[in-house]
Amino acid sequence: MASIFTRIVNGEIPAAKLYEDAQTLAFLDVSPASHGHTLVICKQELPTLLDLPPDLLFAVARTVQLVARAITAALQPDGLNILQNNGAASGQTVAHYHVHIIPRWKGDHALNHWKPGTITPDELRDLATTISARMGVEDAA
Ligand code: 5GP
Repeated sequence: MASIFTRIVNGEIPAAKLYEDAQTLAFLDVSPASHGHTLVICKQELPTLLDLPPDLLFAVARTVQLVARAITAALQPDGLNILQNNGAASGQTVAHYHVHIIPRWKGDHALNHWKPGTITPDELRDLATTISARMGVEDAA
């Protein structure tokens, strides 16, 4: 079954669209974390970051930047979060690759999910070693 975002791409359900090109679409999130919360999707239905070829990754990133500039000009937030979930355990609820643009204003507490003090410097070093050892193992194409 097509994802809810594919149905938006196909015009089967409405969305407040901000921008569209051949590969990407940007529209407002129906349950916003902040004023102007926007989703940028690749039109092709691919589940996560791990599934995208480089050209689509670039196309989405370019649209994120274009739309982030427009949001900044229109709403004048103090900052923006760029957030992207992969897999249900991360909070991904729509298995169709998308990036969140979340405008932020000082003191809004829209996102408070980091946990300071939960990892030691030694643990950080070991984790960096474990991950960097796998860089380049998989074919980037
Ligand atoms: P995720 O949790 O998968 O990273 O984000 C999915 C996002 O899609 C959520 O923020 C949710 O509010 C949004 N969303 C789900 N269904 C719809 C819809 O039908 N229209 C719009 N505009 N946003 C949706």
